[in-house]
Amino acid sequence: MSKVPTPTPSEGETNSSLSCYRKCPREYFYRYVLLKDVVHTPNAMMFGKAMHAGLAAWWTSPATTLGCDLTDASKDDRVGDALEAMHNSAKESGLNKYDVCMGDAMLAAYESKWGDAQFSHIEVNVDWSARFGSTSNLLGSFDGIVVDGNGTKMLLEHKTTSLGIGAGSDYMTDVHCMNTQVSQYMLASNILGLNCDGMLYDVLRKPFISPFLATPEECRIYTKPSAKSGVPRLYARQRENDETPAEFYRRAKDALTEDSHGHFVRDMVHRTTNELLEYSEEVSDVLCGISRSKNLHVYRRNPGSCMSYGRQCPFYGVCTKTKTLDSVAFIDKKKKHNELVT
Ligand code: SF4
Repeated sequence: MSKVPTPTPSEGETNSSLSCYRKCPREYFYRYVLLKDVVHTPNAMMFGKAMHAGLAAWWTSPATTLGCDLTDASKDDRVGDALEAMHNSAKESGLNKYDVCMGDAMLAAYESKWGDAQFSHIEVNVDWSARFGSTSNLLGSFDGIVVDGNGTKMLLEHKTTSLGIGAGSDYMTDVHCMNTQVSQYMLASNILGLNCDGMLYDVLRKPFISPFLATPEECRIYTKPSAKSGVPRLYARQRENDETPAEFYRRAKDALTEDSHGHFVRDMVHRTTNELLEYSEEVSDVLCGISRSKNLHVYRRNPGSCMSYGRQCPFYGVCTKTKTLDSVAFIDKKKKHNELVT
């Protein structure tokens, strides 16, 4: 099977850096020119990274091979590998114990849902670089390149989300029609001559549950001692102890099993020639903007984006001059594009 050509140019733009410039050129300047990052990594990002490690191990397991004689033992080994990889990543990032249990439940349920589907991986976690126009490179990292039992070769992208992912959901409509990462990766696949028929978009939805925590002592209300036991009880919905991780795991697993369609979706996603052309023109415009900013050393603010996605931009203090980039809130990035494996 043909492999992705080894990327050599380190300079170029990923989907994330292009999206950042589109959102706010000044933020692009902080993140991709001065190479600054925020110290606090959101929990959702750490969870997604740990799940990504687990799924990469799942897809590279010997059990994920066309024609493999799938047995309970080989499936157990595959889940074991996935859990180990997820735990290692979770330990590294300091993910909390309930999120680790959630990851355990999701990977176990993923095996139940997709364990019998026949695929082989060609490559997993592969960085790529594709020439775009005469002077630019697009960069990215495929989660995988896989082939199914009919010989259909496809890119693989897996995601973890808390949003609804059913047919017709906003999330999946975006994936099928607008999502720039899908467009960029399909475009790169064509430029690199990979001959992929589409992208297998493999989404896992995190159940919308939280651990039950003990009621703070000052808020506890007890019933009168019962006639039978003579012991007062806490009111309903109040707890003396936190839910244990094992109890939380069982609740998460039940939620995933009861509604597996709502928590696991694999869709084949395509982009037409016209859609890729339109996307290419949009990318050209963004690249022109980046080039102009670099030449003039001017990266304009976009104050309309300071509060996008319902939260304050992490660089808000810098732009409002109440913080500097030297403050403890920021660190130097080790590399320009964190999402690339190498
Ligand atoms: S605070 Fe606003 S203007 Fe400043 S980088 Fe963030 S989005 Fe841009």
